[in-house]
Amino acid sequence: MNLKITNPATGNIITELLCNTKEDIQAKLNALRTGQKAWSKRPVQERLDCIVKFGELIKENSEALALILTEETGKPLQQSRNEINGAHSRIDHLSQYAEQWLSNEILVNVGATHEKIVYEPLGVIANISAWNFPYNVGYNVFLYALVAGNAVMYKPSEYAALTGKQFEKYLHLAGVPEHVFQCVIGDGSLGQVLLEEDFDGYFFTGSYATGKHIAQTVAHKLVPVQLELGGKDPLFIAEDVLDVKQAAINAAEGAFYNNGQSCCAVERIYVSESIYDAFVDAFVAEVGAYVIGDPKDESTFIGPLTRLQQIDVLSKQVKDAIAKGAALKLGGQPIEHDGNYFQPTVLVDCNHDMEVMMQESFGPIIGIQKVTSDKEAIALMKDTPYGLTAAVFSSNEQRAMSILQEMNTGTVYWNCCDRVSPNVPWSGRKNSGLGSTLSSQGIRAFVQPKAYHLRTI
Ligand code: NAD
Repeated sequence: MNLKITNPATGNIITELLCNTKEDIQAKLNALRTGQKAWSKRPVQERLDCIVKFGELIKENSEALALILTEETGKPLQQSRNEINGAHSRIDHLSQYAEQWLSNEILVNVGATHEKIVYEPLGVIANISAWNFPYNVGYNVFLYALVAGNAVMYKPSEYAALTGKQFEKYLHLAGVPEHVFQCVIGDGSLGQVLLEEDFDGYFFTGSYATGKHIAQTVAHKLVPVQLELGGKDPLFIAEDVLDVKQAAINAAEGAFYNNGQSCCAVERIYVSESIYDAFVDAFVAEVGAYVIGDPKDESTFIGPLTRLQQIDVLSKQVKDAIAKGAALKLGGQPIEHDGNYFQPTVLVDCNHDMEVMMQESFGPIIGIQKVTSDKEAIALMKDTPYGLTAAVFSSNEQRAMSILQEMNTGTVYWNCCDRVSPNVPWSGRKNSGLGSTLSSQGIRAFVQPKAYHLRTI
C-alpha cells in the first residue's frame, strides 16, 4: 500500500511513499534490538557527537528541508525555517548537559558498603509522532532517546512523512547506525501495529483520543508510556496591562502562529471588562491584517490547514458559538481557493456553553470572553479537562503568580505564551498527557535506574 502525500495548499499529490508492513516492523525491530546493544556501550560523548553532526547537517540543508516541511504541511516558509532553527536549541542543550544527567550517582562510598545509581537505557522504543511541529516534537523524543543509549523506531505522522524520512537520512549520515534509528511509514493502522509489538517504551505526541487508546492498548506490557497530548490553553488579560494594543498583538500571535495548529496555542482568551472593548478592537485589527496565502510566499503568515477535515471542525464551532450568542467579528468560513484554507476567525462575547471555548480547535479561530474579577478568570481558566499551559498578561507579578499557582497545568506563562524551552520540562496534566520531555527530566524519561549495593568484604 502507498501513502499519498498531498500538498495542503493546492490539494495536489506531491508523491507517494510505500507503507511499511507488519513483517517490516518485526524485521526492523529485531535489527534494532541488535543495534541497540552496541550503541548503548558507546560512550555518551560518542553518541552526542553523532547528534551534533546531525544538527550541523540539518543546518546546512535547512532551506531545502524548510521547503519539504512547507510542501507537506502547508506551514508558511518563514515559520518552517523558524522551526528548524529553533529546534536546534535542543541539541545545544543536550551537548551541554547530557553527560552530567546520564552519569552514575555515587551515594555512599565509605567503609565496606558502596551504593550507586546507574542509568541504563530502556532498550528499543517506539516514537509515534504528530505533524504540526515535527522538528520540535520529534527532537524532544528521538534525540534524547538516542543520546541515552536507546534505539528508536520513529513513526512520523502521515502528514509529515517526508520530513520523517529526512530525519532518518541525516541521522544515518551523521553516524547513527542504521540499526539504531529507523523511520517507518504509514497511517494510524501502522501505529496500531507498533502497539502490538514488544517495544521497551512508547513515546507518543498527538491527540488525546489516540493517546488514551495507546495507553490502554499497551497497559498490559508494563513498559513506560509517555503522552504529549492536546490542550485548550487559556490566556487572561488583566486590566493592568501596560499596553492593551501590545497585549492584543502578542495574544493574537499566540493564537494564530502556525495557523493555530500548536499544542500550546492560545485557544481561549478572557479579558477584564474595563479593557474588553479596547482589547477586542486591537485584536481584530491585528488579525485582520495577517497576510493569508501561498505558504511558499515569504510574506504569508496564514497558510492552509494541514488536514482538510479540520475545516468541518472549525465551521461547526463557529455555527455553534453564533447559535449560543457569540458575535462573529472576523472570518468564520472556509476560503474559496484550492487547498485547505479557513479565514482567521474571531468570536467575542463567548461563554463555556460553546464548543469553541471547551474543545481543542487546532486552527485559526479564537473565542474571547469578558470577566469581572480574577476569581472568575481563575474559575474559567480551570474549567477544562486539559492541562497543558495557562497564561496571564498583567503588570503585577504578585497578582499573576497567585493566578498561575492555581492552574493545574504543566506550564504557566507570565506576559508570554505559546513558548517551549529546552531548559524546563514540557509536560501535560489531565487530558494533556503523562510524563515530561526536555530538561534533565526529559532525558530521564529514556533511562531506568539500577541500584547497586556493593560490599567490598
Ligand atoms: P493524532 O492523534 O491524529 O496522530 C498522532 C500519531 O498517531 C500519528 O502518527 C498517527 O498516525 C498515529 N496514530 C493514529 N491512530 C493510531 C493508533 N490507533 N495507534 C497508534 N498510532 C496511531 O494527532 P495529530 O493530528 O498528528 O496531532 C495533533 C494533536 O497533537 C493535537 O491534539 C495537538 O495538540 C497534539 N500535540 C501535542 C503536543 C504536545 O507536546 N503536548 C505537541 C504537538 C501536538
